[in-house]
Amino acid sequence: MHELAIAESIVTIAERHAAGRRVTGVELKVGHLRQVVPSALTFAFDLLVEGTTLEGADLRIEEVPAAGVCRDCGAETVLPYFPLQCTSCEGLNIEVTAGEELLVDSLELEDELEHALTTDGGRSNG
Ligand SMILES: [Zn+2]
Repeated sequence: MHELAIAESIVTIAERHAAGRRVTGVELKVGHLRQVVPSALTFAFDLLVEGTTLEGADLRIEEVPAAGVCRDCGAETVLPYFPLQCTSCEGLNIEVTAGEELLVDSLELEDELEHALTTDGGRSNG
């Protein structure tokens, strides 16, 4: 279950950036080629954040489709599954251009949310 290791690094990164502030949301970009199971990652994340400044934070996972450029014919291909094969010439000589991402895209911090609500002149639902 490599989701646990991934969740650990997400928590480490988020805590470092938050610098003691409370984290309410984490947006994650995960490339398709990472073969991460989102439910397993969310499960591991929820376990790890207990008792930290990330407790209760909402983990949102955005999956990035795999894509590549064929080194043989130059065609760009979206690669929905393995093996990575050019849809134009069926060659396997693919340079991967997307799908290997694994990064924390943005963090929602409680401080910034409070700030936004104050400058707005009050809470508005809708
Ligand atoms: Zn090709």
